[in-house]
Amino acid sequence: MNLVKEDFIKAFSLYEEKALQHRRFKHADILPLLKGKEISKQFTVEEIGRSVEDRSIYSVKYGRGPTKVLLWSQMHGDEPTATMALFDLFNFFEGGADGFDTFRQAIEEKLTLYFIPMLNPDGAERYQRRTAIDVDMNRDARAGATVEGALLRKQAMLLRPDFAFNLHNQNNYYNIPGTSTPVTISLLAPAFDEERSINGVRADAMRIIVGINHVLQGFIPGAVAKYDDEHTARGFGDNFQKWGASTILIESGAYRDDTEKLEVRKYNFIALLHAFQEIAKKSYLNHDIAVYHEIPLNDEKLHDLVIRNLSIEKNGKKMLVDVAVRQNEKTVGRDYYVEGVIEDIGDLQDFHGYTEIDVEGLQFIPAKVNNDQLLLFGELTSSFVESLLKQGYGAIVVSDSLAQIRLHSFPIQVLSGANFLADSCLRLGGGADFFIGSEKELQYALINGYLINLKQSIDNKSKNVVK
Ligand SMILES: [Zn+2]
Repeated sequence: MNLVKEDFIKAFSLYEEKALQHRRFKHADILPLLKGKEISKQFTVEEIGRSVEDRSIYSVKYGRGPTKVLLWSQMHGDEPTATMALFDLFNFFEGGADGFDTFRQAIEEKLTLYFIPMLNPDGAERYQRRTAIDVDMNRDARAGATVEGALLRKQAMLLRPDFAFNLHNQNNYYNIPGTSTPVTISLLAPAFDEERSINGVRADAMRIIVGINHVLQGFIPGAVAKYDDEHTARGFGDNFQKWGASTILIESGAYRDDTEKLEVRKYNFIALLHAFQEIAKKSYLNHDIAVYHEIPLNDEKLHDLVIRNLSIEKNGKKMLVDVAVRQNEKTVGRDYYVEGVIEDIGDLQDFHGYTEIDVEGLQFIPAKVNNDQLLLFGELTSSFVESLLKQGYGAIVVSDSLAQIRLHSFPIQVLSGANFLADSCLRLGGGADFFIGSEKELQYALINGYLINLKQSIDNKSKNVVK
């Protein structure tokens, strides 16, 4: 049985793990799911160790075939997309009587799959890249200083896998060269030496990638790239390749309007299921590594917003510039707020934005701060905020001092305490809070990096925080 496009769609819709729908899930959220798999006879679930903060790390084994495949996810705590996909795969392998039984049987007989979901549970708890001791686990393959990295090394030596999958997320700002298309999935057969030599082990990883790319093109045409292949002596992918496992890096990237990366997660599921199919049938051997080399390299020229041809003035001199804005996420528990930042100023013709506007003829106008302090935070209303925006206010000071971090969705900076001064001119690295308009009227507000068209209805979907 050979799975094709329709099968992948059907399999995902049947088996997507509904308990994981937000990126900031924690170790405690996957524990009950793992317990469920433990009692299912299709899997062998084993605790292989514990993190620095004593969270359990599990291996989930499926199949009894001679070819061994090891996969691990989330060694970077804030890179959870593949972990979601692994649970979708577990559900798929647990299923039955759905038309996929012949496929499952083939995988089970040909392969033994070892999955380690969420290798860095302490990092996931904080939604941070590094481990609890602030070490980047993917720079710890050589030293094995972290208990979690040492665990993975131990599994590598114990299992001696034929294939390895290193599952990560890359940031949202990679694009396909020369286009504004975000890279949704990027792939790499890591180099095992400085010369980036290609031996049989690495060539097989490249062939697997050719197959994955081919299938993904059917879903996300022109949105797959290759990750930079500079050799990282401390990296896990590079070392697994050196240790003799054909190693594939899969980086979950971005897909427009897919904040929680549920689409990207689907493409992970498809990529992995397809790879298992090719490994089981050895059909990857038919792929030409020349095709691997043709996959475009990640470019990094995307921003959240690019404003083109903005007129600015300093010392009485007028200039025309493009402005790039990014919105960085700040985690608060299971939620987050954003911080809009001016990322670049100048000629940005070669750069792209998820949102782009040309404001030729319009100028930079500093935001005003409403400092009357007549209202408590709880008394703010959308209509009042809207009227402030239309008068050129980008911030309001409320009269209460809030002890706790307070997230809100008003499209205005809310300040408790009057210590905020909006920038009077564009400033690199500064906050993205200003207005755009003519001498006569305001056209746009930019609040914390959110672009608001003042001529249209204004929504309350911002991820802001009281400052
Ligand atoms: Zn990573």
